[in-house]
Amino acid sequence: MPAYKAPLREIKFVMNELLDMPGHYASIPAYAEVATPDMIDAIITEGAKFCEQELAPLNRVGDIEGCTRHEDGSVTTPTGFKEAYAKFVEGGWPSLAHDEAHGGQGLPESLGTVMSEMVGSSNWSWGMYPGLSHGAMNTIDLHGTEEQKHVYLTKLVSGEWTGTMCLTEPHCGSDLGILKSKAEANADGSYSISGTKIFISAGEHDMVDNIVHIVLARLPGAPEGTKGISLFIVPKFLPNADGSVGERNAVTCGSIEHKMGIHGNATCVMNFDGAKGWLIGPENKGLNCMFTFMNTARIGTALQGATAAEASFQGALAYAKDRLAMRSLTGPKAPEKAADPIIVHPDVRRMLLTQKAFAEGGRALVYLAAQQNDIVKKAEDEEARKAADELLGFLTPIAKAFLTEVGYESTNLGVQVFGGHGFIAEWGMEQLVRDTKIACIYEGTTGIQALDLLGRKVLMTQGASLRNFTKQIHKFCQSEEGNEGLAHLVKPLVELNKEWGDLTMKIGMAAMKDREEVGSASVDYLMYSGYVTLAFLWARMAKIAQDALANGTSEEDYYKAKLATAKFYFARVLPRTKGHAASMVAGANTVMDLAEEHFAF
Ligand SMILES: Cc1cc2nc3c(=O)[nH]c(=O)nc-3n(C[C@H](O)[C@H](O)[C@H](O)COP(=O)(O)OP(=O)(O)OC[C@H]3O[C@@H](n4cnc5c(N)ncnc54)[C@H](O)[C@@H]3O)c2cc1C
Repeated sequence: MPAYKAPLREIKFVMNELLDMPGHYASIPAYAEVATPDMIDAIITEGAKFCEQELAPLNRVGDIEGCTRHEDGSVTTPTGFKEAYAKFVEGGWPSLAHDEAHGGQGLPESLGTVMSEMVGSSNWSWGMYPGLSHGAMNTIDLHGTEEQKHVYLTKLVSGEWTGTMCLTEPHCGSDLGILKSKAEANADGSYSISGTKIFISAGEHDMVDNIVHIVLARLPGAPEGTKGISLFIVPKFLPNADGSVGERNAVTCGSIEHKMGIHGNATCVMNFDGAKGWLIGPENKGLNCMFTFMNTARIGTALQGATAAEASFQGALAYAKDRLAMRSLTGPKAPEKAADPIIVHPDVRRMLLTQKAFAEGGRALVYLAAQQNDIVKKAEDEEARKAADELLGFLTPIAKAFLTEVGYESTNLGVQVFGGHGFIAEWGMEQLVRDTKIACIYEGTTGIQALDLLGRKVLMTQGASLRNFTKQIHKFCQSEEGNEGLAHLVKPLVELNKEWGDLTMKIGMAAMKDREEVGSASVDYLMYSGYVTLAFLWARMAKIAQDALANGTSEEDYYKAKLATAKFYFARVLPRTKGHAASMVAGANTVMDLAEEHFAF
């Protein structure tokens, strides 16, 4: 099993050198006093220790043991999970990035993202328990009444209770417009919720005294489709007036799923049998309410792609330096040994560099999105908030779908670097593959994210959100026009930046004649967008490295590695855009012509 080591130098590179997070925090009054450089440093250092020492050792335990549902519907988490959660709460981690009004520490959400990265790379399954609580907290914070905030939010922020998001039903996940769960008003202002929700992460477990379910359901006579869905708080135990846990509510875990990965996280069928709940936000506006924090939730899942790439890269790199096989084509590199370490072989290097490029590029993209989220939530300047909101909306489907797809690819490469041993459970590499696949599915599948990007974000804004982003790329390329040392990056970036707009126009025109053109182009379009977005970030990181080397640095090797990885990404990964470009404009007929009944004979 690879031992996780928090990549603190990499985290600090993105925080301090690429995104100037200290300057960003200082520019937002709500953060200026609290998010000082010393405080940020202390939090990252302490968080790293917690993840390396407490969570990483439990990752394989969680995979082997999984969760156990008992006859009475209770669920036990794997050995050590509960104790680690207690330490997490004791350390004040759940309250890090929440408002002080509800017991939080008032630190920026982007700092929470850094902690989530380290938690995720060390033990994603465990991280989902506090992770799901964030969704519940955001919902109550943005749409709950003062009383709901007082009763539920404070307990969630302290970590004493955890939360869930109950959207999916047996017959629907992507299309929530057809959900069937019902809510009927009671005389006391509460509602009785009935229905079955499936695949509910952390739906039942033994880590806390109470679980707060956020549930989507329909009121009697509600309009059909997405316009007739309301949002409810349904606690496992009804809270007493003093905040303590009271009577058991009629919500139970019917079963837990036996699944491909994330065994340490309980994925539950939740039965609501007239469970008592309370409306959050206006009637029939449940999905609108959820949209307000969808970006943050999806960025949280995007992070899973980047964390998986990082964890798999760490394991593969250590193995590649140690494992001996054959000699280098250019003569022995370790003549004193029986064979050379496999890191000498070009193909092994190709795999490692691909993982490295996705892990570091992915971190840059997620942190960039998290920075925009800070601005949306807390900046005082309305124009800045609006611009950040637009950029975040544009980047979210790209980050979510692209990073989870390439994160999954990275975990497969990790197995490949290990050869046969990668296929053996003991090393932990195959677990990463199994744990990561789900990231491409939940929080909106890759297909659904691609439709959101091309349909809603790009075509429905007549390309405005794309243009705002390509303008930023254009500005960077212009500023580096005469920079010979970066010409191998800037030139292709200029071309791709233009082609991105041209392809969009082509698809838009084709879609005017046939709407199927959008759906048939969308995933290629999304992947293309992801590769170009990462290229922009890699070019910027290369520029920082170039400057550091030119100005003299004690970390020459570090910055040279950045330049080498950028060069690799542009030369060996970015050409994938050519395939996606050709494919996205190949025409809807290439997928639609085959009649359904002729798919199989
Ligand atoms: C381990 C796990 C944990 C989960 N955790 C939670 C949770 O905590 N809370 C919760 O509510 N849900 C949760 N889910 C559910 C998850 O969000 C859904 O499974 C997911 O949204 C996909 O929905 P579905 O399974 O119904 O697939 P479907 O919606 O049936 O989709 C099947 C396929 O069809 C494609 N598709 C559907 N519509 C279109 C379209 N219009 N155009 C193109 N392609 C389309 C999809 O991309 C997908 O490939 C979890 C699922 C799992 C497996």
